[in-house]
This record gives sequence, structure tokens and C-alpha cells, in this order.
Amino acid sequence: MFNLVFKLIILFPLEISFKFMNVLIKIKQNLRVNTKNNAHFGQRWTSVFLMFLTFFATDLQAQDKNNFKVKTLVIDAGHGGHDPGCLGASIKEKEVCLGVALKLGKLVEDYFKDVKVIYTRDSDVFVKLMDRAKIANKNKADLFISIHANSAQNKSAYGTETFVMGTKYTDRNLELAKRENSVILLEKDYEKNYEGYDPNSPMTNILMGLYQQEYLESSINFASKIEHQFQSRNKRKSRGVRQRVLLVMYRTTMPSVLVEAGFLSNKKDHKLLKDNLGQAEIAGAIFRAFLEYKREMEGSTSSQISKEEALVYSQWDSTLRRVLSLKMDTAEVVKLDAKIKADSDSVQKSIASKKAVEIKNDKEKAKAVNHDLIFRVQITSSSKKIPLNSRKFKGLSNIFEYKVSTVFKYSVGNCVTQVEALSLQKKVKKAGFKDAFVVAFFNGKRVSMKKAREIISKGKN
Ligand SMILES: [Zn+2]
Repeated sequence: MFNLVFKLIILFPLEISFKFMNVLIKIKQNLRVNTKNNAHFGQRWTSVFLMFLTFFATDLQAQDKNNFKVKTLVIDAGHGGHDPGCLGASIKEKEVCLGVALKLGKLVEDYFKDVKVIYTRDSDVFVKLMDRAKIANKNKADLFISIHANSAQNKSAYGTETFVMGTKYTDRNLELAKRENSVILLEKDYEKNYEGYDPNSPMTNILMGLYQQEYLESSINFASKIEHQFQSRNKRKSRGVRQRVLLVMYRTTMPSVLVEAGFLSNKKDHKLLKDNLGQAEIAGAIFRAFLEYKREMEGSTSSQISKEEALVYSQWDSTLRRVLSLKMDTAEVVKLDAKIKADSDSVQKSIASKKAVEIKNDKEKAKAVNHDLIFRVQITSSSKKIPLNSRKFKGLSNIFEYKVSTVFKYSVGNCVTQVEALSLQKKVKKAGFKDAFVVAFFNGKRVSMKKAREIISKGKN
């Protein structure tokens, strides 16, 4: 509740005024350029107009969530070119980012024919942070994944963490945001491009954090799935999902996450990040999270494992082999084989338990069908209505009356099976109704015994 009030009273007006402020700043900038460059006057005003349109469009976009499909994925390998990122003992962050990004893209391309994968870079080149977001926006991406590797002075720090654009800080580790954002210092005109971003100003951080707010929930959802996969299947240490102001994501208009896949400053993590198989494992974890996220967003229930998913898992393992086939020594192959076996075992288990539930449900269903089919013992019939407490029924209780054209018919019992009805028939005969016979009812209507047998055999199938 507090959260909602906070959003309505503080964040929302702040967001609106900030967006307007930006528009005004840009108009000012544009006008300043106009006086220098009159040839582009018309063009400048068109862009001012477009900025206003975008401002309103972003809020309209959020409402169109029907038939949502995750169709376009942007994979952003961090750093590149003259920006190496963090330096490990024998590998640079930019190399790890690209290695993981390409492997992830390959997995997604192979198994989701309906998903378009776009890389912000697929080679060792420098791309401005803002251009990475632009690529995603221009392609109307549904999801943005930025891949990085971490570093810390404390060499014992290790594990994975996934960031979303947000302002809920924990005090420590603002260093990370500063470091990942500091790359803008390598860009010309960064002050203009990032709207005067000052990593040390809490106010700039809060205001920038608002940009991604409408996607925050989805971003956190996806980020949690990634960390869950790292922890549960890759047996990595998950440092959790965190919120930071990260410039690469502040202008993306879709759910966005930044994965710090491990610490280059830590010996064990370094080995994993450098290793081809290690990179593929990281890509695999993000891929499985993507699979879950996509299915959830597209409306399928996440708890069920479908046959297609099992297929995806097993094919994913063989793709991993293909991705790695160039650089594998025997030990790696053995390790991978064991992993593939463990994976398929767990998939098999899930399928088996799902099947067991299905069988149970089927049995239940069959029972329910047969409950609609009941047997009774008919004792007498009459052209005149007989009161149900009449002595004619010789003390039998729960008499059931039904009418066929002009004849009233009377029966007893409410038996689920024919055998039960036959034993009741014996008792009724002993009670004095020598001509009593078994009749069947389906959904309250009298049916022939032949029809009843048909219904039973259908129910069993
Ligand atoms: Zn980085």
C-alpha cells in the first residue's frame, strides 16, 4: 500500500516532470543548434515534435499487452574495441562478454525459430552505451540482455549477480555502476548524450532510474529466473538481483537486465569465464531463463514441462556440444557428457511426474463420467401416480419415480456399478418384487443396458 501511495504521490509526478524537463532541455539544445545551422531548421522542429509524440507513446505502449509474444531479443556483449572492461589475469572482460553473448544467441536462434536475435556487437568493436539502447529500441526488441563480467578488489568475491535499472540501492557496490558507466568517458559528447549524467549525484541516479520503471517488474522477473538458473543448475553462487542505474539500460524501452557472469578478479570464476565450456554453461543458464520467461509472458503455465521443452533441453545440450566442438579436451567432453545425462535425467523425472498426474486425472475423469451413469432396480410401473410412501412399496425407502410417456415407473437404488445393482436386485426380489430388473440412467435419463456398457468402455479408455 505504501508502495502504491509512494508511486502515485512522489514517483509519478517526478517522472512526468522529468520527462518534460528532458523534452525542454532537448528543445533548448536543438534551438541552439538551429541558430548555428539554419539549413536543418525544419528537421530540428520535426524532431522536437517527434520527441513529444514519443513521450505520450511510451505510456500508451504499456497498455498493449494482449497477445504478447517475445519475438525480438537483443543481446548486448559489454565493452569491446578500445574499451576492454575489467582485466582478468589472462582474459579481458570484453572477450568473455562476446563469448557468452554469441553462445547465448546461437542457442536462442537454434531453438526459437520465432525469435529474432540481434547483437549490439558480434566482433571486437567499440559501441557507445547509448547506441546499444538505440539498437534495441529501433528493432522494437521485447527483451534486452547485457552481458558483463565483474571485478573486485577483494579477490575472494565470486559468483553471479543480475542487475535491473532501478534506484533501490544497497549502499555497497555503487562502484559497479560507476565502473560500468565510466565507459562513457571514452565517448565524445558524453555530457550531452547522457543528459548531464553524474555518477556521484544521487539525484541524477534517482531520476535516471525512473526511465525503466514501467518495465521494472518484468525485468526483475527475468533477472530472478537467470539467477535461479545459475544457482540451481549451474551450482554457482548467486549474489542476487540488484537495482542500479546503468546507463546501457536507461533508455531501453523494454524489460532489460545486465548479467555480471562472475568475477575476473577471483581465481575460480576467472577459470570458468575464460573456459569455453564455462561460457557455454553461463549462456545455457541465461537461455533456460529466457525459455521460462518467454513461456510465462506468452501465457503458458510455467510449472508444467511440455514435451517440446524436454526436447529443447536435450537439443540444447547437443547444441552446446556443437558450439564447443572446436575446443574440447577429453576431460571437458567427460564433464559435458555427465552434465547432459544429469540434464536429461531431470527432464525425464519431470515428464514422469507430469505423466503420473495426468494418469491420476484421467482416472478421476473416468470415475466422474461413470458417476453420471448410475444403475437402479426397477420394481413396478403404473398408469396412475403412486405416492412414494405407499404400502405398495413394501417398506422400501428412497423410491425414485420417473415417467415414460404416460406410464409412471418406480425404482430403488443409486448404484455406481452394475454388480452393485445386481446384488440390490436380489434383495428387492426377496422383498417380494419377483420381476424386479436392473435399469441404467445416464445424466438423469434412462438408457439401455447396451448403451450403459458402451459408456463404461469409453470411460475406461
Ligand atoms: Zn562490464
